[in-house]
Amino acid sequence: MAFTEMNKGGIVFMRSSVIDAKHAFTTRAGGVSTGIYASLNLGSKVGDPQENVAENYTRVCALMGAGPNDCVVTKQVHGSVVRVVSSADKHPVGAEVPYEADGLVTAERGLPLFCFTADCTPVLLHDPVASVAAAVHCGWRGSVADIIANAVGKMCSLGSRPEDIRAAIGPSISVCCFETDADVPEAIDRWLGPGSGTYYLKSNGKFVVDLKKANAIRLLSLGLLSEHLDISDECTMCSHEKYWSHRYTRGKRGVQCAVIVL
Ligand SMILES: [Zn+2]
Repeated sequence: MAFTEMNKGGIVFMRSSVIDAKHAFTTRAGGVSTGIYASLNLGSKVGDPQENVAENYTRVCALMGAGPNDCVVTKQVHGSVVRVVSSADKHPVGAEVPYEADGLVTAERGLPLFCFTADCTPVLLHDPVASVAAAVHCGWRGSVADIIANAVGKMCSLGSRPEDIRAAIGPSISVCCFETDADVPEAIDRWLGPGSGTYYLKSNGKFVVDLKKANAIRLLSLGLLSEHLDISDECTMCSHEKYWSHRYTRGKRGVQCAVIVL
């Protein structure tokens, strides 16, 4: 289990060894955007000129063997809705997304699923037995609302068994940097039960939270096998030159994606 950095034509992305389908966790490198969006920004609503975003999509989609208008994307609201999608949900770059969903699941081949982050935790799921994939945006609100269980549940509704599902938990703000008030650990206790070991009280009275570990614990309790979990050790805030970090940039930033295609 390991994440490996890849470089294809200047696009730098991370790949997990547990996932046997084409996939990527993108970084800031390899796009055409400039200024605070330099260079691989995939957010179409952050102020970056649309033609640059479209070119960035074209490049990432080419990595996935697809065209820029042949993908399905989340419309993220920090909720827990996971949508089963098909080619009828294909999304032209920059268009309105006619549903709200922080996670996507499909059994359809050749349909790249995109979710987006800039500190939040991206999770890609893959079942090579039933051939089902998911892309899930796990911020803290979605995590404690149990979005990852909804994703596994939708995969099972398409024929997956939890013991066959592989999970790659991607680069996100990590326990070194994700400082919160007491509301986040309290919500984690309601979600995972007390004593999960996923947050720590600091001497300044704040907490630091390990959202990657929290989602990993939940995946194990859902029946995934530990040898099928891969957890990135990269922190987007520490590695803010490589990844988009909302906290580091105070919101003046682009967006990276996690994408998977069967
Ligand atoms: Zn950090």
